[in-house]
Amino acid sequence: MLYHSLNGKSKSVSFKEATLNSIAPDNGLYFPEEIPLLQKQFFENIENTSNEAIAFEVMRPYIGNDIPDKELEIILAETFDFPFPLKRVQDSIYSLELFHGPTLAFKDVGARFMSRCMGYFLKNNTKPVTVLVATSGDTGGAVAHGFYDVKGVEVVILYPKGKVSEVQELQLTTLGKNITALQVEGNFDDCQQMVKKAFVDAELNAKKYLTSANSINVARWLPQQLYYFFAWKQWPHKNETPVISVPSGNFGNIASALLSYYSGLPVKHFIAACNANEVVPQFMEHGIYEPKNAVSTLSNAMDVGNPSNFIRIMQLFEQSLPRLKTIFSSISISDDQTQKTMQKVLETFGYLTDPHGAVAYSALEQYLQMHPSSRGYFVETAHPVKFLDVVKQATGIEPTLPTNIIGLMQKEKKYIQMENDYDAFKTFLMEN
Ligand SMILES: *Cc1c(COP(=O)(O)O)cnc(C)c1O
Repeated sequence: MLYHSLNGKSKSVSFKEATLNSIAPDNGLYFPEEIPLLQKQFFENIENTSNEAIAFEVMRPYIGNDIPDKELEIILAETFDFPFPLKRVQDSIYSLELFHGPTLAFKDVGARFMSRCMGYFLKNNTKPVTVLVATSGDTGGAVAHGFYDVKGVEVVILYPKGKVSEVQELQLTTLGKNITALQVEGNFDDCQQMVKKAFVDAELNAKKYLTSANSINVARWLPQQLYYFFAWKQWPHKNETPVISVPSGNFGNIASALLSYYSGLPVKHFIAACNANEVVPQFMEHGIYEPKNAVSTLSNAMDVGNPSNFIRIMQLFEQSLPRLKTIFSSISISDDQTQKTMQKVLETFGYLTDPHGAVAYSALEQYLQMHPSSRGYFVETAHPVKFLDVVKQATGIEPTLPTNIIGLMQKEKKYIQMENDYDAFKTFLMEN
């Protein structure tokens, strides 16, 4: 499989190069030259197929010859070694829980897969690689955990000061070793901007081998589509295709969901559920794509004003808004609605959502009100304990902490403070 740059000015590369480069030299995102089509038989047998075997079938064509089968099987088994349960919340709404990994958010899958692929590709490498990653909250912890102690890899995480939750900050600042956290005076977009600038800085790139662990990287982006195959495997109404609501920020997760659909997965409709950062909902309504500054909300991992992966979605639909509209909607949910949803879903159905899942639940509910004969599931992207304050405020209850979180709370946070200033960031990278 070859990957081409969406800016169209760089040459196509293999999975390995796309992973190591992260972004093409012309600054474009990499995109697969073809979307593999899965056999009917694969879907007919899916209920009796193990998650590892499903993952292998789906991912194999994307990797090409860059990783031998035996090695890929090991990487996939390690990536997907926790459960992805689809739970019934009420008659028409299910929850796909993606928070059973080590840092309690869905980003563990992409981070684990990418770190293992990089570890394999860099096995005999002599020049150390620096992974730069901007985080709105959950990426940092997942990437820190995925890359912790991987030989030959230094990780630098940029996170916005005061805009990530306590548990999120602990997860990305307490590991040490090859993981360094930078606390930036700014928002997520500022962090992402600095990272993007570093990649095209010739002086810096002459000194360091830089790559990114954001969802722009194909190795983080592609394995996320497996969630939707695992959900279909468990979907109890096989004669009705589900409506799928995905809480969306940088649009990596939903873009991967759309890949699964192009590979043949049965889906009725996709909803990209957003918070007040509504660039995509506005685009769907008015046809004008206008990036904005991110605003802070209760679902902080989705506070993105210029979602990087939306361009991949447009590529899938050949830049046609009418075509996109046939299968995809985007709905914006306010903080007030988010809180009310958390409260209502807990009181009525005894199910506790995190704020991101609540945004997706609320958007799905709105959609189903207009399409009453449909059913669907929302994606519960993080464990509610990652957002203790928000959960407590919305529902009045304090969820019990898993033991790994209790241990985390006894650790000391270590980070370097950084102005929202590219030159300061560059100096730091040049000197470290
Ligand atoms: C990152 C994140 C999202 C948004 O995912 P994207 O792929 O960036 O759209 C949603 N929920 C949680 C909990 C996240 O950590």
